[in-house]
Amino acid sequence: MSEKALADEFLGALQRAVGAADRPVPLHEPEFAGHEWEYVRDCLDTGWVSSVGKYVDEFEVRLTQYTGARHAIAVVNGTAALHAALVVAGVRPGDEVLLPALTFVATANAISQCGAVPHFVDSAEDTLGLDPAALKGYLAHIAEPAGGGLRNRLTGRRLAAVVPMHTFGHPADMPALLAVAEQFGLPIVEDAAESLGSFIGDRHTGTFGLLGTLSFNGNKVITTGGGGAILTDDATIARRLKHLTTTAKRPHRWEFFHDEVAWNYRLPNLNAALGCAQLERLPDMLARKRVLAGVYRSAFSASAGLRFVDEPAGCRSNYWLNSVRLDEPSMARRDALLTAANDQGFQCRPAWTLMHRLPMYEHCPRAPLPVAERLEAALINLPSSAKLVKGTK
Ligand SMILES: *Cc1c(COP(=O)(O)O)cnc(C)c1O
Repeated sequence: MSEKALADEFLGALQRAVGAADRPVPLHEPEFAGHEWEYVRDCLDTGWVSSVGKYVDEFEVRLTQYTGARHAIAVVNGTAALHAALVVAGVRPGDEVLLPALTFVATANAISQCGAVPHFVDSAEDTLGLDPAALKGYLAHIAEPAGGGLRNRLTGRRLAAVVPMHTFGHPADMPALLAVAEQFGLPIVEDAAESLGSFIGDRHTGTFGLLGTLSFNGNKVITTGGGGAILTDDATIARRLKHLTTTAKRPHRWEFFHDEVAWNYRLPNLNAALGCAQLERLPDMLARKRVLAGVYRSAFSASAGLRFVDEPAGCRSNYWLNSVRLDEPSMARRDALLTAANDQGFQCRPAWTLMHRLPMYEHCPRAPLPVAERLEAALINLPSSAKLVKGTK
């Protein structure tokens, strides 16, 4: 198909799906249609705006109720959540941590922040997440037991953890990844920043690993302005996380005694107030995002060069970002389609540049990445705000 014909097909489908919306149509826009004003005003009226307050505790309780995790620790953003989770999972300076090359840069940055080295592994075609078969084969090739743990025999560094990520909200194959991690004795920290509201069977993403992390940045499914949370079922780990994210201060009425190096990562009450109101609206927003996914699916169903990316079998995706995939022969046309769509006010975006192509990560160890490289060239994200579908309320 010619570039012009493919671009016309792409624009035609976008026009059918979201052409009625005001331009530009943003990639993902927050929506404040519930009790946001009321709860935020309550913080200002009572003076409880900072790191202590009823909304922080309430937000954590509601996150456990929604996700089914036993404990949730609210923090300032998703990157801080990952950093704290990795430290508690035992990642130390000089270790290596395995993660997909196809991810947002924060996953690799949080590993670096631990003083550890990101080690990139390939993704799977069906989930867009870390490929369990590729991980297993690769570990069998590079890993050897050492000192009660696992060592990369090519670099001599300890392999400390695996960090799968749920791309655009589509769940990675956690049961298979857990089996591989268990076989090699590696803990899993799930980067579920994009997948609040995504389930594998009836289990929420971010609750399969030892720890899971969420983000409530402005572009995510729900937002607290900036914010994040760590999920775990382990009470000891949860206590330690609360301690480390609040400057490791021993509780006392007046004394300042801190018993280890720690961080000021606690989510402010003001942001948590926004979070409580947003969580109340989450089911409605997810329902409308699912309707929008259906609209895109049918708009692209007759397309010759583009395929809508569906949720993996057995999963319920939050469809955080809808996407289409260019067929192999058309992959070189990606940027022409992006230009055409953005010229028309449809804010479409490519997937992230793969981590090993970024200057600070180009020398990191990596497995062969053929699938991630194909996905990078072929994926296009589409405007995905819940707002694009009229509310039920
Ligand atoms: C958004 C995001 C993060 C980081 O979240 P922030 O709240 O922006 O720090 C981490 N990982 C992935 C995959 C993300 O999409």
